[in-house]
Amino acid sequence: MTPKTVGGLIEGGVRVTRSCQWCRDFGEVDLQRIARERGVGYPMLDHLPLCTNGDCKGMIRFQAHRGMRAEWLMTPEGQAKFQTHSDWLFQTKTIETRRSALKQRRAAATQIDGRT
Ligand SMILES: [Zn+2]
Repeated sequence: MTPKTVGGLIEGGVRVTRSCQWCRDFGEVDLQRIARERGVGYPMLDHLPLCTNGDCKGMIRFQAHRGMRAEWLMTPEGQAKFQTHSDWLFQTKTIETRRSALKQRRAAATQIDGRT
Protein backbone atom coordinates (compact mmCIF):
# COMPACT_ATOMS: atom_id res chain seq x y z
CA MET A 1 0.00 0.00 0.00
CA THR A 2 1.16 3.51 -0.77
CA PRO A 3 1.84 5.65 2.30
CA LYS A 4 -0.53 8.56 2.79
CA THR A 5 1.67 11.10 4.50
CA VAL A 6 4.89 12.88 3.58
CA GLY A 7 6.77 11.02 6.31
CA GLY A 8 5.44 7.67 5.11
CA LEU A 9 6.44 8.37 1.53
CA ILE A 10 9.98 9.35 2.57
CA GLU A 11 10.32 6.24 4.73
CA GLY A 12 9.02 4.06 1.93
CA GLY A 13 11.53 5.54 -0.50
CA VAL A 14 8.72 6.63 -2.81
CA ARG A 15 9.51 9.24 -5.46
CA VAL A 16 6.70 11.72 -6.01
CA THR A 17 6.02 13.93 -9.01
CA ARG A 18 3.38 16.57 -9.55
CA SER A 19 1.65 17.36 -12.80
CA CYS A 20 -0.97 19.70 -14.17
CA GLN A 21 -3.03 18.31 -17.00
CA TRP A 22 -3.90 21.80 -18.31
CA CYS A 23 -0.60 23.63 -18.60
CA ARG A 24 1.49 20.45 -18.71
CA ASP A 25 3.53 21.69 -15.78
CA PHE A 26 5.44 18.75 -14.36
CA GLY A 27 8.09 18.35 -11.71
CA GLU A 28 9.71 16.40 -8.92
CA VAL A 29 8.28 16.95 -5.45
CA ASP A 30 10.72 17.78 -2.70
CA LEU A 31 9.23 15.62 0.05
CA GLN A 32 11.99 16.58 2.51
CA ARG A 33 11.08 20.24 2.12
CA ILE A 34 7.36 19.57 2.63
CA ALA A 35 8.19 17.49 5.72
CA ARG A 36 10.35 20.32 7.06
CA GLU A 37 7.78 23.02 6.36
CA ARG A 38 4.54 21.19 7.14
CA GLY A 39 5.54 18.21 9.27
CA VAL A 40 5.90 14.51 8.49
CA GLY A 41 2.19 13.92 9.12
CA TYR A 42 1.20 16.20 6.23
CA PRO A 43 -1.32 14.25 4.12
CA MET A 44 -0.40 13.71 0.48
CA LEU A 45 -3.31 11.44 -0.37
CA ASP A 46 -6.07 13.41 -2.12
CA HIS A 47 -3.92 16.52 -1.84
CA LEU A 48 -5.14 18.48 -4.87
CA PRO A 49 -3.90 22.07 -4.79
CA LEU A 50 -4.74 24.50 -7.56
CA CYS A 51 -2.05 25.15 -10.13
CA THR A 52 -0.21 28.44 -9.62
CA ASN A 53 1.48 28.46 -13.02
CA GLY A 54 0.57 31.74 -14.73
CA ASP A 55 -3.22 32.05 -15.07
CA CYS A 56 -3.73 28.28 -15.12
CA LYS A 57 -6.79 27.16 -13.18
CA GLY A 58 -5.92 23.49 -13.26
CA MET A 59 -5.66 21.15 -10.33
CA ILE A 60 -2.33 19.55 -9.51
CA ARG A 61 -2.17 15.79 -9.06
CA PHE A 62 0.59 13.92 -7.31
CA GLN A 63 1.92 10.61 -8.52
CA ALA A 64 3.91 8.07 -6.52
CA HIS A 65 6.66 6.14 -8.29
CA ARG A 66 8.04 2.90 -7.00
CA GLY A 67 10.32 1.09 -9.38
CA MET A 68 8.42 0.84 -12.63
CA ARG A 69 5.07 1.34 -10.97
CA ALA A 70 3.34 4.67 -10.77
CA GLU A 71 0.05 5.53 -9.16
CA TRP A 72 -1.93 8.68 -8.45
CA LEU A 73 -2.05 9.65 -4.81
CA MET A 74 -5.83 9.71 -4.90
CA THR A 75 -8.72 7.75 -3.48
CA PRO A 76 -11.91 7.36 -5.54
CA GLU A 77 -13.20 10.46 -3.69
CA GLY A 78 -10.12 12.43 -4.71
CA GLN A 79 -10.55 11.27 -8.30
CA ALA A 80 -14.18 12.39 -8.24
CA LYS A 81 -13.11 15.79 -6.91
CA PHE A 82 -10.51 16.09 -9.66
CA GLN A 83 -13.05 15.06 -12.31
CA THR A 84 -15.54 17.66 -11.08
CA HIS A 85 -12.88 20.36 -11.28
CA SER A 86 -11.82 19.22 -14.76
CA ASP A 87 -15.41 19.30 -16.00
CA TRP A 88 -15.90 22.78 -14.56
CA LEU A 89 -12.65 24.00 -16.08
CA PHE A 90 -13.51 22.51 -19.46
CA GLN A 91 -16.89 24.27 -19.46
CA THR A 92 -15.29 27.55 -18.39
CA LYS A 93 -12.74 27.29 -21.20
CA THR A 94 -15.44 26.50 -23.75
CA ILE A 95 -17.46 29.56 -22.71
CA GLU A 96 -14.35 31.78 -22.75
CA THR A 97 -13.45 30.59 -26.24
CA ARG A 98 -16.99 31.22 -27.52
CA ARG A 99 -17.05 34.67 -25.95
CA SER A 100 -13.77 35.79 -27.43
CA ALA A 101 -14.79 34.43 -30.86
CA LEU A 102 -18.04 36.41 -30.63
CA LYS A 103 -16.17 39.54 -29.56
CA GLN A 104 -13.81 39.21 -32.51
CA ARG A 105 -16.71 38.76 -34.92
CA ARG A 106 -18.42 41.85 -33.49
CA ALA A 107 -15.23 43.88 -33.70
CA ALA A 108 -14.77 42.77 -37.32
CA ALA A 109 -18.40 43.64 -38.12
CA THR A 110 -18.00 47.12 -36.60
CA GLN A 111 -14.90 47.75 -38.68
CA ILE A 112 -16.72 46.80 -41.87
CA ASP A 113 -19.71 49.02 -40.95
CA GLY A 114 -17.37 51.92 -40.27
CA ARG A 115 -15.94 51.78 -43.76
CA THR A 116 -19.22 51.83 -45.61
ZN1 LIG B 1 -1.44 24.26 -14.59
